[in-house]
Amino acid sequence: MNPGRTPLIAGNWKMHHGGASGVELAVAVARAAALAPKVEVVVAPPLLAIPLIVPECAEVARQLRCTPIGVAGQNLYPAPKGAFTGEVSAEMLLEAGCRWVILGHSERRQYFGETDEFVAKKVVAALAAGLGVMACVGETLEERTSGRTLDVVLRMVDAVAPCLRGAGARGVIAYEPVWAIGTGKVATPRDAQEVHAAIRARLAGKDAGLAEATRLLYGGSVKADNARELLAQADVDGALVGGASLEIGAFAPIVRAASELA
Ligand code: PEP
Repeated sequence: MNPGRTPLIAGNWKMHHGGASGVELAVAVARAAALAPKVEVVVAPPLLAIPLIVPECAEVARQLRCTPIGVAGQNLYPAPKGAFTGEVSAEMLLEAGCRWVILGHSERRQYFGETDEFVAKKVVAALAAGLGVMACVGETLEERTSGRTLDVVLRMVDAVAPCLRGAGARGVIAYEPVWAIGTGKVATPRDAQEVHAAIRARLAGKDAGLAEATRLLYGGSVKADNARELLAQADVDGALVGGASLEIGAFAPIVRAASELA
């Protein structure tokens, strides 16, 4: 972590907790976040739960006199409106109370065919609408074992970096090795730091201010027992958490670890 950047811990709920259970979990996260004022905490629920969650979290923040947690969309379509059946725009996420969006998650790339170019268009649309962006990058196991990790990751970074210029703290890149997502296999803190440092250096080669301001999250089987070591790395500014964000007993200790290091 770096004292110049606020740590960010985000929970990607994917297709879980779409209704009342989502409200219950978000309220518990809001209470945990109130104990970690130096950490920015974000949850990314399924779309239908967002309008239920936003007012409940605002109410918790009002009662506890703290900043509300952020709410993120898990995807968007890069047009403000139109004939795009089944899609949702950045403006619609914003209107529902989102302040963030996760873009280019490996599941979107793998199951929905999202390309670097399409992800970049989404990043532009999100930032233009006023959302913060967590743009995901990461290599598959085959790419890692064949020694292509940095080629792949930096190619993905190159696609979004020009769009993140000027975004400041609203620009986030999440390094999520695909082989570590939902598998229980986690990158060693050293491996994570190596890739994060390479991403930071790539950004610095384009724009020193961009490299300073962009927060780099690690994602991939982050749990209570490995969070501290990962978050302690110099270029790791937070975590994007999948499985362990689905229960407060697993997520709160990760927020606490970030708070203790902040
Ligand atoms: C994710 O899907 O973004 C993720 C990091 O999942 P998990 O923590 O379950 O590996």
